[in-house]
Amino acid sequence: MTRWALRVLAGVLGVVVGVYAAPAPVQSPIASTRTEPAPPAQVEPAPADPPPPLDGITIALDPGHQLGNHNFPAQTQHLVPAGGFKKPCNTTGTESRSGVPEATVNWRIVRLAQARLEALGATVRLTRSSNRADRWGPCVDVRGRFGGHVGARLTVSVHADGAPPADHGFHVIARPHDTVSLRLAKALRAGFDEHHLARSNYVGGGSALSIRSDLASLNLSTVPVAMLEIGNMANRADARRMTSRTGQARYAAAVVAGIRGFLRR
Ligand SMILES: [Zn+2]
Repeated sequence: MTRWALRVLAGVLGVVVGVYAAPAPVQSPIASTRTEPAPPAQVEPAPADPPPPLDGITIALDPGHQLGNHNFPAQTQHLVPAGGFKKPCNTTGTESRSGVPEATVNWRIVRLAQARLEALGATVRLTRSSNRADRWGPCVDVRGRFGGHVGARLTVSVHADGAPPADHGFHVIARPHDTVSLRLAKALRAGFDEHHLARSNYVGGGSALSIRSDLASLNLSTVPVAMLEIGNMANRADARRMTSRTGQARYAAAVVAGIRGFLRR
């Protein structure tokens, strides 16, 4: 190797050692030919993780009814404001033919949806904090106002229907003259469609959409709101899905997909 080639090689190695060496004194005879000490290695800071998609968003979920409502007839039959008229505080909800209460189905699906939404960064608030036979309520007026009270971007109320046994499939209820409520209802429908959950064959003429003005939970909300009837508990196939772990996970995923679709996140 020529003297010139050795000098080039020494220069290259010097740079390499300078880049990779720790700032401690370098012992290599090649590197020691440098007149300036090698600069400390520059460590690029790791890029910050992007915030999760629902970061900073509060979502209100309403698992319809309380398990113990039937044990408190006086409290639940008490009339409350419902949006220009009065209604009983809360009803008992329906049940499957095998006796699984609607309150429990709604509760499990909402809890699963809550966990998924929280994993995506959302803050989730529920209208009830338990599913217990020794508790009742809250009343429908409290449920309706809940989303506004907790600063939610939207409220989704989750129910399961009780209809003749041949009826099946989900539908979503929006309130009249409210394009935002309707957009939320359609986003939830898209989430259910995406998860291959069949649309109602008895409400909405194939649209799975219903507009109702008789529901306090919708009437009294000051934030975008829609109510899901996820299926018919009296229908054998719907009830099997609604009461199974895998089925409940699928409904929860569909609810989350709908909410994300509405929020475009
Ligand atoms: Zn219900």
